[in-house]
Amino acid sequence: MRQLLTVGLFAVFLSIMIIWNVRAAEYPKPTTEDTKMNSNTKTEQATFAAGCFWGIQVAFDKAPGVVNTQVGYAGGKTDNPTYREVCSDTTGHAESVLVTYDPTKVSYPELLDTFWSSHDPTTLNSQGPDFGTQYRSAIFYHNDEQKKLAEASLKEVDASGVFPRKIVTQIVPAEKFYTAEEYHQHYFQLRNPAATCHTGIAKVHTKLAEQAAAARDLSPERGTSVPLSSSTQPSASAIGASIVAGASCKVDDPNAACGTSHWKALTDAEMRAKLTPEQYKIARQAGTERAFSGKLWNEHRDGIYHCAVCDQELFDSHTKFESGTGWPSFYAPISSSAVTEKQDREYGMVRTEVLCSRCGSHLGHVFDDGPAPTGNRYCMNSAVLDFHPGEKLATTAAK
Ligand SMILES: [Zn+2]
Repeated sequence: MRQLLTVGLFAVFLSIMIIWNVRAAEYPKPTTEDTKMNSNTKTEQATFAAGCFWGIQVAFDKAPGVVNTQVGYAGGKTDNPTYREVCSDTTGHAESVLVTYDPTKVSYPELLDTFWSSHDPTTLNSQGPDFGTQYRSAIFYHNDEQKKLAEASLKEVDASGVFPRKIVTQIVPAEKFYTAEEYHQHYFQLRNPAATCHTGIAKVHTKLAEQAAAARDLSPERGTSVPLSSSTQPSASAIGASIVAGASCKVDDPNAACGTSHWKALTDAEMRAKLTPEQYKIARQAGTERAFSGKLWNEHRDGIYHCAVCDQELFDSHTKFESGTGWPSFYAPISSSAVTEKQDREYGMVRTEVLCSRCGSHLGHVFDDGPAPTGNRYCMNSAVLDFHPGEKLATTAAK
């Protein structure tokens, strides 16, 4: 009898473990801890991917109305992936944050503003120093309403011009979310509260969020009033108003050293001594090499393209395509921080000039007639690029 009881108890324990494991593979429901915080309120969930999940979790933890966040893996094709597997860029998962929020205190469009403000949504499969599909920008919608709002928000932000390039964020259904290993949870808050692995390049305030906030404030369901902090207070006039990072970069100064690099600016004489006359004309005087004359328009090997002046990594061969123009063409730079873009009005045309963000050298121009997924064509001069065949990015090679 006692033996039977032990077997029975074990069977119950086993089935609980099996059910628990299956549940862990689905979207976790808000925990009792979440609901304790406001027992009268039904919480909702949202999932975002915006590069390294440590930094994104900080951004959402700070957002008003957010009850709980978890970092994990979403949008992939394998079950129960580990951090190591996800970092190998083979499982299809994106580092993501699952946000549980109180809809009486924050609306989904306001969370979308936090999302846009916490990363650069225009860099394909990379974010800051991180490179790979696991660092892609994505909105995983949990229902049709979220899908509609995400699409409208993206459209509004794109049209506002607050980001200098087209947004490449995926909007896809939330399927399975796997909570990441415990040591990734609240990584920065527990170790170095001041740290973050990347920050947004613009403070985004959409009209959509402003309207949603107004509707939420009028809602009879609204619970205790929590004033939004000034940084999250939506304001129509602020749309497109501020580009934060890179704003202090003086690209007009040919010898400016920008960003966090260790590039030591050269004097004009040093620059002339270092570069060939053709390189100098292009890099320092915004010149253009003759089509089909350069060494790289017909280069098809794998590798990394560096700045020929300061050696900064600029383009990955995987984004190179045959444009037929006679100039090496890419649909995206290695990261948004690798290049600086500015409008140029030479020859009566308005074009967007592309410069190396580290040394300020002119590289070429970007046009919006490129192929998917960005629709951009970075038309570069071979003379100011150094090709390193077979090279992989330090961040991907190390994994
Ligand atoms: Zn450079």
